Amino acid sequence: MTAPHTYITTTIPYVNARPHIGHALEVVQADVLARCRRRHGDRVRFQAGTDDNSLKNVLAAQAAGEGVREFVDRNAEAFLALGPALSLTVDDVIRTSRDARHRPGVERFWQACAAAGDLYRKRYEGRYCTGCEQFYSPAELRAGRCPEHETEPQRIAEENWFFRLSRYGGALRTAITSGELRIEPAGHRNEVLAFIDGGLEDFSVSRPAGRAGGWGIPVPGDPSQVIYVWFDALCNYVTALGYGSGDDAYRQWWVSAGRRVHLLGKGVLRFHAVYWPAMLLSSGQPLPTDIVVHDYLTAGGRKISKSSGSGADPVALAAEHGTDAVRWWLLREVPRVGDADFTIERMIARADDELANGLGNLVNRVVAMIAKYRGGRVPGPQPVAAGGEALDAAIRQAGGLIAAALEDFDFRQATAAVWAIADEANRFVNRVRPWELARAERDGCDNQRLDAVLGALFEACSALGRELAPFLPDAAERITGQCTPRDGRLPAAAPVFRRLSPGSHGT
Ligand SMILES: [Zn+2]
Repeated sequence: MTAPHTYITTTIPYVNARPHIGHALEVVQADVLARCRRRHGDRVRFQAGTDDNSLKNVLAAQAAGEGVREFVDRNAEAFLALGPALSLTVDDVIRTSRDARHRPGVERFWQACAAAGDLYRKRYEGRYCTGCEQFYSPAELRAGRCPEHETEPQRIAEENWFFRLSRYGGALRTAITSGELRIEPAGHRNEVLAFIDGGLEDFSVSRPAGRAGGWGIPVPGDPSQVIYVWFDALCNYVTALGYGSGDDAYRQWWVSAGRRVHLLGKGVLRFHAVYWPAMLLSSGQPLPTDIVVHDYLTAGGRKISKSSGSGADPVALAAEHGTDAVRWWLLREVPRVGDADFTIERMIARADDELANGLGNLVNRVVAMIAKYRGGRVPGPQPVAAGGEALDAAIRQAGGLIAAALEDFDFRQATAAVWAIADEANRFVNRVRPWELARAERDGCDNQRLDAVLGALFEACSALGRELAPFLPDAAERITGQCTPRDGRLPAAAPVFRRLSPGSHGT
């Protein structure tokens, strides 16, 4: 039997500016899922990319007085730099304006929808937000303004191609309520169902080529129009697999994959949970199995947006404070439901408290005690040390708790299970006071007790190295290094984390 295939995607951001901490959240969550599924034996493809064909990119390039190509390439590079900076295990990246796989796939998708009778031309008038690349109905605007951007949308009248979304309300509803298409968390699922129940209207899927400044993919058979950037961008999830050329990867990772998981922010929920599945139904392709929605990050209480420049730059943050600190904050503090506020101070406090003081100190102390009391030799397998039952339970339960939490896409719950090991181990040290046991041993009594205590603590550190791996791969490697004997002895104790708060001087 072949291992199950899991396909995990992140949204492809517009490259109209550099990435901010909000982008880091989604890619780090996807990376954790990918690492965990691989560890459970799945074959995983973690797919990312950039959305180059947006009108927003054209406008931003013009505002910067730069050619669109150079501008888009430069910003795309900045997004790709997230990979190494955040230790991401991205398997493949697609860039919609550059990648030879993309355009033929989009054209094929368009033709499949056309063959299904779902595309037609119509004259249209509406209010268009360039920030969203979306038409809004008057009811959706807030006091006449875009609910995302708080700007006044442009009034536009033009002839466009339309997609017969109205046909698919019933099928989408059934797919979602039956669990065939899972949308998490439940609040967002209900929001999608309410939107469907409100009645689906056909939506415009092309723009006049003139208004797009020649940027984008021409409509097959109608060069006066370019394909709407959302239609174009959503297709990336299959064009990256070679849908356009009938590639075997498409069959493997989409058609017959066990899981097809999309991660996305709440602002683009409708595109992913309504438009995209309808497009897939129209073109005769399987639906995604999971749509995982994260809410927004604010920075110092203010909405982050690429264009406002208020968002912390994740690459710079990782360079200054370390990848572990950035990943840990995103995974440990951001709740499954609701927005979270990022500040550098909060990130540093969390890292110092839990990573440097909690985990790092523990590993350091345990390795140092094994060196001091046992010459670096780890005591052999021991029965559960008296008083170590809670620690033992935290170690035994961690794997199951993490798997269950990630099945719910609850990263905070998952990291809590890892943290519980360190927390219990630190409690255990303070309770049993191994240094007193060592003194008693020197005085000639009971050396079994110290062996049992050191054995339990060593097991906790090894478990931390193991369980932390999907979340903080770099730190996990250092911890595992500290717990791996060479020639029968552990290496000399070395700090696993540095302290980040100003004025402190390492461990
Ligand atoms: Zn908008």
